[in-house]
Amino acid sequence: MISLRNCLLTLLVTGSVLFAQKGELPDPKLTEFWTPQPPVVSSPEGGVPSDAIVLFDGTNLDEWRIARDDDEGNVKMLPANWVLEDGAMIVPPRAKGAKSSDITSVQSFGDIQLHLEWRAPAVTDPSKVSQQRGNSGIFFMNRYEVQVLDCYQNESYVNGMTASIYKQQVPLANVCRPPGEWQTYDIFFVAPKFDPDGTLREKAHITVVHNGVVVLLNAPIYGPTEYRGQPSYKYHTPRQPLRLQDHNNPVAYRNVWVRELDL
Ligand code: MG
Repeated sequence: MISLRNCLLTLLVTGSVLFAQKGELPDPKLTEFWTPQPPVVSSPEGGVPSDAIVLFDGTNLDEWRIARDDDEGNVKMLPANWVLEDGAMIVPPRAKGAKSSDITSVQSFGDIQLHLEWRAPAVTDPSKVSQQRGNSGIFFMNRYEVQVLDCYQNESYVNGMTASIYKQQVPLANVCRPPGEWQTYDIFFVAPKFDPDGTLREKAHITVVHNGVVVLLNAPIYGPTEYRGQPSYKYHTPRQPLRLQDHNNPVAYRNVWVRELDL
């Protein structure tokens, strides 16, 4: 479809050529667009942007559930059982043999900006290394994982380290702070797009900023995160929930908000 903006641009370029032929400089106003003006967003220093959807402000787990399959294979939504402590929500201790308690957002999203802060627990057992330290993760659209892991003086396979797209994309830097310190992720996620018949039209893309340092820039995602084998896309609807992983390590999160992006 030819947009009004493209039509105007064509006219402007044609006009500029004509002016140039006459040896006159084009009027700079010809290349100014004034409408539509973007929405006004206020963003106080250290605060939350005015158009953000707050998913965790430190007081309650209302925006989160645990999705659990029952014996008939139906998904039941249970209350989130993560520990609320000092403005953080923390992966709870797990009884031996109990199922993990990933939490899933009540709301679903497509293209988003996500801000959150996370903290890996202190190292209490030095024999726990690689993927056994401060492991959690953020699953965009319930499928595509940005790894949360304590890689401070702790090496792991690089496509599974902190801020990787798990088993798919290696971060440009290791920006990990020591365990026990809060860290930030600012993540810009562009959802995959599917044709009406379900075939993939565009892969998902992601930009990850870890503690203020860009570590993935518009990196493609090759499909839902797989622990074994290669990823491959399967059709899903354009809005899906976020999920935070319970990997049986007491990782804490705070100050979680998203902004929906109208791209
Ligand atoms: Mg993980």
